[in-house]
Amino acid sequence: MPIWIKVFGLRPHWFHRRFLYHIASLIGKPLKLDEATTEIDNPVVARICVEINVLEKFQLEVPIQIDGRTHYFKIQYEGIPNYCKICRHRGHDMASCFA
Ligand SMILES: [Zn+2]
Repeated sequence: MPIWIKVFGLRPHWFHRRFLYHIASLIGKPLKLDEATTEIDNPVVARICVEINVLEKFQLEVPIQIDGRTHYFKIQYEGIPNYCKICRHRGHDMASCFA
């Protein structure tokens, strides 16, 4: 399912589609960039829409090699619905599953 993620820890010169899609591809399948991100209104946070597998664990940080150094980018997920891995239904989490 498509979900918006925010990427923190970027520098202004990293704000181009190819680099942002590279980060997003470690989370899932990149779909599109937020308009404000495309126009670099706010070169601190990038917003990217990503197709993710909700059954997988959400990564809160992704490591990227840049010029021989590893940079860690914090990832924030927007609007993840509760998803129950037991009965595979949305709307409640595993702790409140009665299946
Ligand atoms: Zn359930």
